[in-house]
Amino acid sequence: MYKRTDTVAVKVGNLTIGGNDQVILQSMCTTKTADVEATVAEIKRLEEAGCQLVRVTVNNKEAAEAIKEIKRQISIPLVADIHFDYRLALLAIENGIDKVRINPGNIGRREKVEAVVKACKEKGIPIRIGVNAGSLENHLLEKYGYPTADAMVESALFHIGILEELDFHDIIVSLKASDVPMAIEAYTKAAEVIRYPLHLGITEAGTLFSGTIKSAAGLGVLLSAGIGNTMRISLSADPVEEIKAARELLKVFGLITDAPTLISCPTCGRLDIDLFAVANEVEDYLSKLKVPIKVSVLGCAVNGPGEAREADIGIAGARGEGMLFRYGEMIRKVPEAELVSELKKEIDQIVASYEET
Ligand code: SF4
Repeated sequence: MYKRTDTVAVKVGNLTIGGNDQVILQSMCTTKTADVEATVAEIKRLEEAGCQLVRVTVNNKEAAEAIKEIKRQISIPLVADIHFDYRLALLAIENGIDKVRINPGNIGRREKVEAVVKACKEKGIPIRIGVNAGSLENHLLEKYGYPTADAMVESALFHIGILEELDFHDIIVSLKASDVPMAIEAYTKAAEVIRYPLHLGITEAGTLFSGTIKSAAGLGVLLSAGIGNTMRISLSADPVEEIKAARELLKVFGLITDAPTLISCPTCGRLDIDLFAVANEVEDYLSKLKVPIKVSVLGCAVNGPGEAREADIGIAGARGEGMLFRYGEMIRKVPEAELVSELKKEIDQIVASYEET
């Protein structure tokens, strides 16, 4: 378990972000928010995949008005993404939003900021300040010349200062950049000077393949340093893929306790079974489970028994068949055609034992 750095705790609906070792997973809807049916359907798919907090864009009045009905139909907290227009923030708050992502320095006149802060205070709603390397304030670009990690941290402190001046402290901060080293530097520096929870993300990371690698590289460094209290992996893909990737990443650092792990070998010339198909089918089966079961799928008996010892259940291929291992002990041999179904049966038994305890 990688300990989180100390931050204050901020409540978002029924969740607590910061002040503990948990990293809350979030994603963002790709639907038009005003399309309640499509938005709710996407949120439900996200929730099933393990999403704990979901953001929707609130870019017009219809979107802000849809929040009431969306909230009625979902059970995870909802975040409104708002740019500039404080009236949309007020309407979203009135309609029951759980958190607002808005940069107070971008709202405009002081009384507009005060109105949003007052409404958030009254309803106990936190504000996420979202610093983005691509949209830094002009005064910072003039000072630094171009986006830098220091400029990003200064931007965050600028927005935090506005909220603190109004005695508002339910703050969460993100410092996103698509440049991974810059994002790492910005979050690392921010963690030294900001006591509010940090929302991690590599923005505009890319497609499912490249974006996952880029995000894992950047966020992995931060998570291993104990930085980050909530996280979104941003992908040009179905947002469910963001949650799947994020859960895998948290597993690496022992930051998730309800997810299965698959160990599978890369295969080599010793391989005697169609391992790729077996591994993919098993992975798909495991992806729906919410227990910390460890399953190994190895191509042959050379490394199989050793690796299988580390797993709750595993198989090692042999010519036209496979050996089934449970906690490192070979329990029986199974014909290749029945390998996956037998393995699933064993997995089900272990899952049932988790459910009993
Ligand atoms: Fe090759 Fe066997 Fe190792 Fe898989 S487990 S990589 S098949 S030696």
